Amino acid sequence: MTAPTSRRGPSSRPVTPHQLKALQLAATGHTHQQIASELGISEKSVGKLMTEIFRKIGAKSMPHAVLLACQAGILDGRPQRHGDHAGFTAHVRRGEDPWACPHGCPEGERTYRTERRRTRRTTDQQERAA
Ligand SMILES: [Zn+2]
Repeated sequence: MTAPTSRRGPSSRPVTPHQLKALQLAATGHTHQQIASELGISEKSVGKLMTEIFRKIGAKSMPHAVLLACQAGILDGRPQRHGDHAGFTAHVRRGEDPWACPHGCPEGERTYRTERRRTRRTTDQQERAA
C-alpha cells in the first residue's frame, strides 16, 4: 500500500522575511499603498507578494492569512520592536540573527551593553568606596 502523495493545502516552502514583513504590516492595519512604500516596492508587487503568501500558508483572505500565521507562530500580530535591547532579544526569540537587523537593533544592543557595563563599574566603585 502506498501513501497518498498528493499534497493539498499549504506549500512546505517557508514564508520569506520579506513576505513576513508585508504580512506583519498588513496585520497591523497598513494599506497596500503603505506596505509598498515601507518595503520600497510597487503596490502591484504587494498584491503579488500577498498572493504568494496566501498560497504558501493556505489562506483564502487577509484575515485568514493573519489568523493562520498567528496560529503557526510566524506572526504574533504585534508590530515588531526595533532599535533597543528589547528589539534585539525579540529577534533572538524569533530565531533571527539580531546582528543582521537593518532597523537599528545592533546599535541599540551595543548602547545597552555599554550602558550596562558602565552601570556595573559605577556600582563596583561605589561598593569599594563604601
Ligand atoms: Zn531589529
